[in-house]
Amino acid sequence: MRKILVANRGEIALRVIRAAKELGLKTVAVHSEADVHSMHVRFADEDVCIGSARSKDSYLRQDRILSAALITHADAIHPGYGFLSENSEFAEKCIAAGITFIGPSPEMIYKFGNKAVAKDTMKAAGVPCVPGGDGVVATVEEALEIGKEYRYPVIIKAVAGGGGKGMRIVREASQMKEQFEMARAEAGNSFGNPDVYIEKYIENPRHIEVQLLGDEHGNVVHLYERDCSIQRRHQKLIEETPSPALTPEIREKLCATAVKGAQSIGYKSAGTMEFLLDEDGSFYFMEMNTRIQVEHPITEYITGVDLVKEQIAVAAGNKISFKQSDIQISGHSIECRINAEDPDNNFCPSPGQIKSLYTPGGPGIRIDKHVYSGYVIPPYYDSMIAKLITHGRNRAEAIVRMERALEEFIVEGVKTTIPLHKKILASEKFRSGKFSTKFLEETKL
Ligand code: ADP
Repeated sequence: MRKILVANRGEIALRVIRAAKELGLKTVAVHSEADVHSMHVRFADEDVCIGSARSKDSYLRQDRILSAALITHADAIHPGYGFLSENSEFAEKCIAAGITFIGPSPEMIYKFGNKAVAKDTMKAAGVPCVPGGDGVVATVEEALEIGKEYRYPVIIKAVAGGGGKGMRIVREASQMKEQFEMARAEAGNSFGNPDVYIEKYIENPRHIEVQLLGDEHGNVVHLYERDCSIQRRHQKLIEETPSPALTPEIREKLCATAVKGAQSIGYKSAGTMEFLLDEDGSFYFMEMNTRIQVEHPITEYITGVDLVKEQIAVAAGNKISFKQSDIQISGHSIECRINAEDPDNNFCPSPGQIKSLYTPGGPGIRIDKHVYSGYVIPPYYDSMIAKLITHGRNRAEAIVRMERALEEFIVEGVKTTIPLHKKILASEKFRSGKFSTKFLEETKL
């Protein structure tokens, strides 16, 4: 591998370019017309404009991205997260064009891309899954049967869902018909696939995921968990590791279960297995993400492993550079997603020019971002403008560090979620470590 084309934008494109540079690899950025002045374009060795602003005319154009790779002689493509990162067809086309797709095999992406199939696969591998029906639920009658068998509340989810969208909670049989039909229509519109599956709705769970890494030499390791229970509308806002909710025994069991699941299918590349942790300490597989995730830096902080470099190295056919026994948890890390949104106005996106930007520094602070003073946030893409990550010797230190960093973080010109993060960090409930995915709904901040 000599040259990587990064099929993404924003902070993750920069993150990949940084990893590639440290590995001595050349880089190619692709960008839309709206992103000409982006940092990922500036820091890559070469860049290719692939279309107009809207994602479907640029970052989702498989043909143009492949052409860009061919004309620049890139021999690998890193898809980042979002966009084409979990598109098995694109991975297949890369391979057919003789280009390494930095991710798992197209078959693996396909299998986990359909959440109903993913659950069935993991169930067969002996991984405990959220109780519910097997596979796609095609009719209201079937849906009602599942509601009866598993008892309400249940949750209807799109098999092709993502980003916390396309989920409906059904609390009693009388709501099923309407919710089922709405869920199917929504799924069809948002994901191009109306299929849904149904599982038990777990009350007050925690979202806990395990970071995995596999190589083509049969090795699978875990890099411990991330707790992503602080969410808004099923979308993550704050992540931390280690989870304050796990005992050493449950942690060991959870991580071993995730490794076993990944091993059973011969998983290669970086991947994340997501679980719900019930109040009684039982955990259930929810889905697997076959890409690098937004929140990967907190894992890098507590393990010292550069996940993106490892992901690239295993895609090039190398062995994972460490053994499971080399990985110990060191301290505690927290990430706050800074979005250009107005928390006082229903999180309405706040695009426009950043008039002035001052970012925090000092010990234990990492910021992954692509924005700068004068940067104009385009209205076409995700609203995340920065990830603020802190590390401390323990949770208390990571929290005070985050509070200090949020105070130092100054963004003028657009609204951001910084004030919301300050309130969450200051709340007794967050500090106690005892909260569920309902934290934001239930807590008066
Ligand atoms: P997506 O891929 O859209 O992010 P997930 O399946 O990962 O969807 O679920 C996102 C979030 O939705 C979870 O973190 C959790 O808060 C909530 N959720 C999903 N399934 C359930 C369930 N069965 N019971 C309770 N909450 C759930």
